[in-house]
Amino acid sequence: MRQVIIIGSGPAGFTAAIYAARANLQPLLIASSVEVGGELMNTTEVENFPGFPEGIQGPELMAKLQQQAERFGTEIVYDDVVELELNGPVKKVALGSGATHEAATIIYATGSAYRKLGVAGEERLSGHGVSWCATCDGFFFRERTIAVVGGGDSAMEEATFLTRFADKVYVIHRKDSLRASKIMQERAFANEKIEFVWNSEVEEILGEEATSGVRLRDTVDGSTRDLALDGLFIAIGNDPRTHLVHEKLDLTAEGTIWVDGRSSRTSVPGVFAAGDVIDPTYRQAATAAGSGTVAALDAEHFLADLEDASVEVPAAVAAEILTA
Ligand SMILES: Cc1cc2nc3c(=O)[nH]c(=O)nc-3n(C[C@H](O)[C@H](O)[C@H](O)COP(=O)(O)OP(=O)(O)OC[C@H]3O[C@@H](n4cnc5c(N)ncnc54)[C@H](O)[C@@H]3O)c2cc1C
Repeated sequence: MRQVIIIGSGPAGFTAAIYAARANLQPLLIASSVEVGGELMNTTEVENFPGFPEGIQGPELMAKLQQQAERFGTEIVYDDVVELELNGPVKKVALGSGATHEAATIIYATGSAYRKLGVAGEERLSGHGVSWCATCDGFFFRERTIAVVGGGDSAMEEATFLTRFADKVYVIHRKDSLRASKIMQERAFANEKIEFVWNSEVEEILGEEATSGVRLRDTVDGSTRDLALDGLFIAIGNDPRTHLVHEKLDLTAEGTIWVDGRSSRTSVPGVFAAGDVIDPTYRQAATAAGSGTVAALDAEHFLADLEDASVEVPAAVAAEILTA
């Protein structure tokens, strides 16, 4: 049995692993079978992660985080968690391969997924003009013409933010009115750089090496036309990856895992959560890394309290955890 199992190999999971490993907890990290490294594997240049003044490619940053976690003794398993048993002092983790692992604490850091349009060109041009994060990528579009897809608050916020860099920002929306709150709408309507493209759906993202535009379909008459662009920001929502813990952990109204204040403590003792899966607002690599730090320290304190017998578990289980 392990002292700590970390689920997820994004900035939150690897940072939790660095801290847990350096605290001599010999963590086991379940990295997933195909998405090792998390969301940053889908991007090119990361210019806002502290410590890299020249910027760093997303996959390179994740490889460095992994090396740092392994250097201190993190064991990594390239598999998916398919089931979790979280009640009781011994947590059980079942993997796709059929293997099972047990631990006294779990750090759950499965991230969240930006909703995709599901159109041709989207995957291919991701990181080459197609983005889901204005904070991350807005800087690359100085004096360019770009578009935001969506009609909610986050689409309005992204569009307004992007006018700091771009000369022109289209907002493409499939209806003729917005879902966004009145104040966000008014702010966007008042911005001279923003132009609304109503009743329009993106049918295809155009470009070979880089995004050159979109093919739009009119949702009223079905006609199509091309709009030339240097970049496209997709702001149609985000889904925290919580399917394994529905009805096991409390969730918030936004669908993220509920944690106690600024800690990573979930509604179940011994289970901690970190990164985008608890974060409806910031969703950045640096905030996820900070959150992973919090989770590892919380798990460490929880285990230390077990040692002090201040957390109630059967004596035999506590002994097993402490000798793990
Ligand atoms: C295209 C793109 C570009 C971005 N650019 C930037 C940027 O420039 N700067 C910045 O700060 N942020 C950027 N972000 C945001 C940043 O990537 C996220 O905020 C950050 O990765 C969140 O870290 P995380 O560890 O919480 O989750 P993730 O990075 O999403 O990692 C979650 C991990 O959990 C794993 N996982 C999920 N389910 C399971 C399971 N059942 N079993 C095992 N493993 C599982 C996943 O495979 C993944 O490895 C970008 C995001 C995208 C999509």
